[in-house]
Amino acid sequence: MVQVQLITRAGWGARAPKQDVPALYSTKGVKVHYTGGRVDPAIVSNHNICVGLVRGYQRMHMDDNGWSDLGYTAAACPHRKVFVGRGPNRLPAANGAGRNSGHYAVLGLVGNAGFVRPNDGLLHGIVDAIEYLRAEGRAGREVKGHRDGYSTSCPGDALYAWVQRGAPRPGGAPPKAPVEELPVVNGIPTWLRPIRLQTPMLAGLDVREWQEKARQWVASLVADGIYGKQSQTACRALQKLFGLPVTGVVDEETWTVTFALES
Ligand SMILES: [Zn+2]
Ligand SMILES: [Zn+2]
Repeated sequence: MVQVQLITRAGWGARAPKQDVPALYSTKGVKVHYTGGRVDPAIVSNHNICVGLVRGYQRMHMDDNGWSDLGYTAAACPHRKVFVGRGPNRLPAANGAGRNSGHYAVLGLVGNAGFVRPNDGLLHGIVDAIEYLRAEGRAGREVKGHRDGYSTSCPGDALYAWVQRGAPRPGGAPPKAPVEELPVVNGIPTWLRPIRLQTPMLAGLDVREWQEKARQWVASLVADGIYGKQSQTACRALQKLFGLPVTGVVDEETWTVTFALES
């Protein structure tokens, strides 16, 4: 398994979002973008240019477009690094109105003048970002370009041709679909289950999702999306049943077991 070289938001000096970005629990896949415009060819030997570009896009999206945050889910640079943008499980804004809940948005730092030919580092970086979003954000198998279903030149002819070939790693085969590379536990492919869980979970869609599953054992539990006393009691009961530490908090293990034990 490839170790993705992630640059956290703190790592690139991201500003805090202006308001909470809506959550997104799975997508059909990923749409690939490019910067368009001219990218200084010196970028290939100067990662500071990458950081400056990502920060510049965040500034533009927040201050000019009036968006809550950078519009992209992630950005890949020619040095095979993956910048965390809005991140997994967050609705992007870069795909065009009405086209954001279906796909995460991954930006490749390549333009239509100057640095125009994606190098191996960039292509690996985009595939790394896709694999990261499959693992952490339940991204589906589709890899498309921004121009699919939307009138734009993005992601440029070079990157788009690569996307149409199935976004292969340089010198290798197309990335495997998650259904083939992740194991099946108790008859449930692990990619069907969220891998990361925010703790403590207090209210929201993830609470409701867990409650709906937990109801299979604790029928009196109401799936109302609010993690109150009733949910804590149900959680303790399930933890006891599963032989886990009885905490009343749905940690990652409790979540996983709840979803793995299908009735
Ligand atoms: Zn685009
Ligand atoms: Zn870079």
